[in-house]
Amino acid sequence: MLRKLSSGLIGLLLLAAPLAHAFEPTTQKVTDNVYAIIGELDQRSADNQGLNNTTGFIITADGVVLVGSGATAGSAKMLEAAVKSVTDKPIKQVINIGVQDHHWMGNSHFLAQKIPVSALAKTVASQHEQEPMNRMRLSSAIGGKPEDLKVEYASETFEGDEKTLTIGGVEMSLRYLGDAHFPGDAVLWLPKEKLVFTSDMVFNERMLGVLPEISKVKDWQATFKKMAELKPEHVIAGHGAPSDLATAQKNTGDYLDWLVTEVGKSLEEMEDLGDAVKRLSADDKFSFLKLSKDLHGRNVHQTYLQLEAE
Ligand SMILES: [Zn+2]
Repeated sequence: MLRKLSSGLIGLLLLAAPLAHAFEPTTQKVTDNVYAIIGELDQRSADNQGLNNTTGFIITADGVVLVGSGATAGSAKMLEAAVKSVTDKPIKQVINIGVQDHHWMGNSHFLAQKIPVSALAKTVASQHEQEPMNRMRLSSAIGGKPEDLKVEYASETFEGDEKTLTIGGVEMSLRYLGDAHFPGDAVLWLPKEKLVFTSDMVFNERMLGVLPEISKVKDWQATFKKMAELKPEHVIAGHGAPSDLATAQKNTGDYLDWLVTEVGKSLEEMEDLGDAVKRLSADDKFSFLKLSKDLHGRNVHQTYLQLEAE
């Protein structure tokens, strides 16, 4: 009897466990009709369901446009709850601007509800290319098998580098400005609000990561400058809190410039890889950014390999 009872209790506890997410993203108003949803600043985990990034949404006369769909059905539900905490309007459309898992791999949750998902064809082509790597990295971070993730692509794609959409009276321009954290990363620019959703082109609060074979530092640096030419008043970054352009410049633009300049000098002076990594890793100019201890040395290393191969 006692045995039966305790196994029943364990069963109940196991049932309850997947629901007990300690993590909840923060929703922050940026303009009258635009909100950011800020995920965890730390790495992806089972607890945050891969939602360690920032997304957001636009409230229009016709409903809500959600920019980014989270990493999994679990994180897609967190985004849905964040929208519901602010407005009763339904999600009318999802737009994908990023290629890394947590910006689009929650699509299936919205497509199952017949909510269309839109993206530039260029972004989707890169998502296809990166899918095996995204599956592997995500499942190793949150648990489970790569093949168990339900991955679906945008239901509507646009050719070319720019597509203007007017949804519920809000004008928005989907643009590819060049490769950034991932090839094919795009931005969503709202000209009237002077607001840009940058996806992983901008990392605020925490340090960006130069991923081997994926992030090309010089391309990213050039793309960041093009984004800055839009002169946004509001930047909703791919990671960290929304900000003005100066803050994005300080956290991401300046760091990319620093990597290219300092590693470039090191190569000019024929410093070898080991010495360069040792010396430049010890530079603490960007140690105010979270995760810098984990990432700065690796970023220097990757930048060296890329600039050396030019
Ligand atoms: Zn990211």
